[in-house]
Amino acid sequence: MDYEVHIIATGYSKLMPNGKGYHANCSCTLIKSGKYKLIVDTMTPWDRQYILDKLKVFDVKPDEIDYVISTHGHSDHLGNNNLFLNAKHIVGHCFSFKDEYYDDPFTEESDNCFYIDNKRLYLMATPGHTASCISVLVETKQGIVAVAGDLFERKEDLTNEYIWLSAGSENHQLQRENRLKIINLSDWVIPGHGEMFQITDDIKSEMNKQSCTDQ
Ligand SMILES: [Zn+2]
Repeated sequence: MDYEVHIIATGYSKLMPNGKGYHANCSCTLIKSGKYKLIVDTMTPWDRQYILDKLKVFDVKPDEIDYVISTHGHSDHLGNNNLFLNAKHIVGHCFSFKDEYYDDPFTEESDNCFYIDNKRLYLMATPGHTASCISVLVETKQGIVAVAGDLFERKEDLTNEYIWLSAGSENHQLQRENRLKIINLSDWVIPGHGEMFQITDDIKSEMNKQSCTDQ
């Protein structure tokens, strides 16, 4: 019953040649076990066929998805949520199914987490990029993977803050705190707009050291 994590698309964001915007799309991730199937961040509406083709490769039908999750409500992270009509829809803190909208499960009593399969698969509120950003944490054979949306833009932003700050950050301080929280909890991070990277012990100790000096 181990969870497998498959990266359906690796996100990117590149400055347009005229400097007046970005070419961007998000990382799209499929998480599956015998128990649950989830898709996280469904790209832009123009990627519909791409996602359908990729799901076939992993032998998953859209109707089998239990949860479709958008780490936040930006258009590149939710463009194909309507492919998954048997799934619970989670867009940041907004939980729904058809016309049913549920109470926000991220509360202090729940430690700001929503547990789908105990600590093996859960969601955590990680505000910063937007006030209602969330991350998905999943236990795999390779360790804990965090699908973190735009909490991290890409690996390089560990050493160059300008990258995540300039990608838009509604609350720098919270984002900094939540980045550190995810780093301390994870072995791997799938960022919103770059390749998956490993959180080595060196990265952990370097980031924790930095946060001490920041204060
Ligand atoms: Zn994004």
